[in-house]
Amino acid sequence: MILINSKLPTIGTTIFTVMSKLAQEHNAINLSQGFPDYEADPKLVEAVAQAMKTGNNQYAPMPGHQQLRELIAEKTERFYHTKYNPDTEITITAGGTQAIFTAITAFINAGDEVIVFEPAYDCYAPAIKLLGGLVKPFELQAPDYKIDWEMVKKLFTANTKMIIINSPHNPTGSIFGKDDIEALIKITKNTDVMILSDEVYEHIIFDGSQHHSIALYPELAERSFIIASFGKLLHTTGWKLGYCLAPSKLMSEFRKVHQFNVFSVNTPMQVGIANYLKTTDVYKKLPIFFQEKRDHFRRLLSETKFELLPCRGSYFQCVSYKNISNEKDVDFAQNLIKKLGVASIPVSAFYTKNIDHKILRFCFAKEKSTLEKAVEKLMKL
Ligand code: GLN
Repeated sequence: MILINSKLPTIGTTIFTVMSKLAQEHNAINLSQGFPDYEADPKLVEAVAQAMKTGNNQYAPMPGHQQLRELIAEKTERFYHTKYNPDTEITITAGGTQAIFTAITAFINAGDEVIVFEPAYDCYAPAIKLLGGLVKPFELQAPDYKIDWEMVKKLFTANTKMIIINSPHNPTGSIFGKDDIEALIKITKNTDVMILSDEVYEHIIFDGSQHHSIALYPELAERSFIIASFGKLLHTTGWKLGYCLAPSKLMSEFRKVHQFNVFSVNTPMQVGIANYLKTTDVYKKLPIFFQEKRDHFRRLLSETKFELLPCRGSYFQCVSYKNISNEKDVDFAQNLIKKLGVASIPVSAFYTKNIDHKILRFCFAKEKSTLEKAVEKLMKL
C-alpha cells in the first residue's frame, strides 16, 4: 500500500451529493440539492442539438465561443451599464464552480488569507486550502445574516488577499443592499484586496429588489471577478456552463490557469446557447418565474410548524425547526428523509465549525406539484 498524504484531510463528500443520494435511496422528494425538476425551454435544447448536427463539435476557442462572449458583453452593459471586452475580459467556463476555482488558483498563494462569509457555498474553502491559503471565516447570524462591515475590517491583515461575496446568497436567500456595497468600497479602498463576487443567482431576486452587481461599481469592478452560471439562468444545471467577468489585467492571469485546467469548454452548448439567446430574452422573466414559486412555497410552509426565514433572492428557502425538535440539524434532516420522505440541506454544512442553528434549506426550483407534495408530508411534523 502506498502512503497517502491527503491535501484535504478534513473534507468529505459534499453535502449535496450525500443528501441527494439519501433522498434517492429512500425515494424521498428531493428539495436538497439545488436543481430544477422541470425541463429547460425545448427551443434551447433544439438549438444545442442543431449546433451538434451542424458540425460544432471540435474545440471552442480557449476563452469561449466568440458570439456567446459578445452576447454576454451586451447583456452586462444592458443590466449593469459597464462594458466588458469580450476579447479580453470575458471567459466561458465549465460552470460557476470552475470559474471560482480558476480565479482562486490564479491568485492565492500559500499563506494568503481569504475572507469568506459563512454560511458559505461549499466550493470556496477547499480551493483556498488546496493552494495553501487560509480561510478566514466571518460568521453571520440568522435570521437576516447581515454583515457587520466594521467587524469585517478587523479581519484584515497584511496577508488578506481576497474577499468572497455571494449575493443573492446560497443558502440563506439574503441579498446585498447599497449599504453593503458602500461599506465594501470603503474597506477595500487603498488596498490590494481582490473580490470574488459569486453572482450565479443575479436574476433570482424578489419583491422588485435590484441586484447590486459588482459590475455596477467601477471602484469594486477593477479588483473583482464576477461569476455567473448558465445552469441558473437557463434551468440547465447539468450542462455545467458558466462564465467569468474581470478587467483584462485580472482576466489574463485567470486565462493562464483556465487554458491548462480545461483549455476550453464544450462547443455545441456554447453555440446553441448563443443562438438561443439571440432570439430569447431569458433574464427579465426569471425574477417573476421564481417569485411565484417562492410565494407559493412560503404560503404552503406557513401552515407547518417551521418558522420561515426571509428569502429575498436565490432559489432557497431556509426554515428554523427549533419549535419542533432539539436534534442536530444533520440528524433532523436525515430523519426527515427517512421518516417523512422529504430531503433538505442542514445549514451547519455551510459553516467551517458546523455551527448548528437548527435551520434547514429547501430548494424551491421545483414544479408546483412537487412543492405541494413535499409540504403535505411536512405537515405531519
Ligand atoms: N448549487 C447547488 C446547491 O447549492 C448544488 C451544486 C452541487 O451539487 N455541487 O444545492
